[in-house]
Amino acid sequence: MKTIYFDNNATTKVAEEVLDEMKPLFCDLYGNPSSMHTFGGQISHRMRKAREQVAALLGCEPSEIIFTSCGTESDNTAIKGALAAYPDKRKVITTRVEHPAVLSVCRDLENLGYNVVELAVDKLGRLDLAELEDNLDDDTAIVSIMYANNETGVIFPIAQIAELVTDKGIVFHTDAVQAVGKITLNLSKSNIDLLSLSGHKLHGPKGVGVLYVKKGTRMSPFMIGGHQEAGRRAGTENVPGIVGLGKACELAAENLEEENSKVKYLRDKLENAILKSCPDSRLNGDKDHRLPNTTNISFEFIEGEAILLMLDRIGICASSGSACTSGSLEPSHVLRAMGVPFTAAHGSIRFSLSRYNTEQEVDFTVEKTPGIINHLRELSPFVAK
Ligand code: PLP
Repeated sequence: MKTIYFDNNATTKVAEEVLDEMKPLFCDLYGNPSSMHTFGGQISHRMRKAREQVAALLGCEPSEIIFTSCGTESDNTAIKGALAAYPDKRKVITTRVEHPAVLSVCRDLENLGYNVVELAVDKLGRLDLAELEDNLDDDTAIVSIMYANNETGVIFPIAQIAELVTDKGIVFHTDAVQAVGKITLNLSKSNIDLLSLSGHKLHGPKGVGVLYVKKGTRMSPFMIGGHQEAGRRAGTENVPGIVGLGKACELAAENLEEENSKVKYLRDKLENAILKSCPDSRLNGDKDHRLPNTTNISFEFIEGEAILLMLDRIGICASSGSACTSGSLEPSHVLRAMGVPFTAAHGSIRFSLSRYNTEQEVDFTVEKTPGIINHLRELSPFVAK
């Protein structure tokens, strides 16, 4: 049975070109880039190239890139690093729909006595910018708002938000783990101070991420030890991962628009056909301001997990929430924040596509899904027989 992979917001396939760049760095060029000898030293120019490739995709300076171990580390570093740089300020603003890599950090800070504000979203998953503005004050150290939501794909107006926040002299961080590689960013023209991304979400390897730090932003390092990353992130670098991430960024930059219009076409075809053929189904999130690859659909009166299992039996991989929340029977915190009714939130499925998906895969899924939904509804105690 062929696998049809529609779970690209959880992780992506490593591009062959990325793997080719990484291979020599394990058994041949395995030196430590900090070493004085030529063998180690020859690695550092590969790291420099990777930094330039990442910077080119983001539209920033290579010196503004710090390599980390993942998106989660970048998020933790941004928030805790900004708080450490502004020890007199005790307020953090975020949203109710962040990934746990931000939300759990903020809730932990609340337990430590910080004043944490979680902004609400409306039923389409949109923020009220007036609520944000009302909350910005002299005590606010950092505002952390995601670029695009991992569960619904909803994109927040980050350029506008960054301007509002930084005009008040407050540090602005965005978790762009789901946005980078899917939409065009130009950080040199933005007010974003800090931005997180993760290698494995854009056909790079797992275990490598980036924190972009705009020149002049006050930030204390989170990982302390050696002098790597110009003293901003200690620890021997994951050289193969960094080189792979650089290549993944180069590939994303080359094909961003063309590939994403193909991905959007496939996503729309899948979404429209499923909504049309499955009664009592609904789209979650703002249809017009979304990542091109993501659709989140609720099927009333049945369990998302049951749908996933039946899709899985025919080789289709999807998700019933973010990768991190799957396994829990609680409906997703994102859908709950959007006020999606309990019966619909429980039966939600996320399909997230990539450039490697084909029209045949979409057609197969469209053909099989209504049968699965009807079968589960026949078994459901919540449906009147
Ligand atoms: N932020 C968002 C929006 C994500 O979707 C994820 C992963 O799913 C992360 C952060 C965490 O990234 P990583 O898996 O690299 O730690």
